[in-house]
Amino acid sequence: MSETTKLKARLLHSREIAPEVNHFEFEVEDGEEFHFTPGQFISVVEAVGGKPVTRAYSIASPRDGNRFSLCLNRVPDGLVSNHLFQLKPGERIEISQPLGYFTLRHPGRRVVFVATGTGIAPFRSILLDHLPRTQPQVNLLFGTRYDHAMLYRDEFEQLQQVYPSFRFLPTVTRPTESWTGRTGRVQSHLDEALALRSNDELPEIDVYICGLKEMVDDVRAELKKRGFDRKQIIYEKYD
Ligand SMILES: Cc1cc2nc3c(=O)[nH]c(=O)nc-3n(C[C@H](O)[C@H](O)[C@H](O)COP(=O)(O)OP(=O)(O)OC[C@H]3O[C@@H](n4cnc5c(N)ncnc54)[C@H](O)[C@@H]3O)c2cc1C
Repeated sequence: MSETTKLKARLLHSREIAPEVNHFEFEVEDGEEFHFTPGQFISVVEAVGGKPVTRAYSIASPRDGNRFSLCLNRVPDGLVSNHLFQLKPGERIEISQPLGYFTLRHPGRRVVFVATGTGIAPFRSILLDHLPRTQPQVNLLFGTRYDHAMLYRDEFEQLQQVYPSFRFLPTVTRPTESWTGRTGRVQSHLDEALALRSNDELPEIDVYICGLKEMVDDVRAELKKRGFDRKQIIYEKYD
């Protein structure tokens, strides 16, 4: 089956996981094959005013037969995100085969994941898929605006309990009074996430970044300043 083959996926259910952010579970219709590598995205094709409009969404779930999840925020006046938020269980969408190269390049290497907002989606897929199999050494630095918008927080805290090779470092920019953890942007916690004991370790680490362009570019610049080679910096920009 070619990468351009379109598939039909049926919404099983969706739920709100933070204000204006939903977790969606889909099933690719019977008879169609659906294989992906954790970290990849699918394109949703929606007809708007008679013309096809395409938007990419990272798969947020581990490999599970024909099922997959998405994690989306509703963009004000956004064409496709609003359409997906209005879908009812049983309704169908048209999607592409999984695409992209934002996948673990060197399994076995130490990695640092940096995400903001729904940029967490590909990392959830990678972590839930790889941790039980190969237990890669991963530090996840995850930034959200509010503590109540810390997507999948319970899951990551639980993974950290189960897998000593995984560390979860959440940070919020607008904490409530009850938040006692890290505050500020992900950029200010990079050194903690990199956890370099000496610069000799630097060539052994890959850093994956996912989210909006501004954050991705800032973090890349910070890493270059610290001496990272561009091959060690793998990123996905959402805008
Ligand atoms: C590889 C890839 C993976 C992606 N994965 C996800 C994902 O897992 N979850 C997810 O929510 N989004 C994801 N996106 C973003 C997504 O493809 C759409 O851009 C987003 O849903 C807006 O589409 P729309 O049709 O609703 O809005 P449009 O009608 O295209 O309007 C979007 C407008 O809002 C601005 N904007 C504000 N906030 C955002 C935002 N968060 N993302 C994009 N544009 C924004 C844009 O600059 C633009 O002007 C991904 C993008 C890429 C390239």
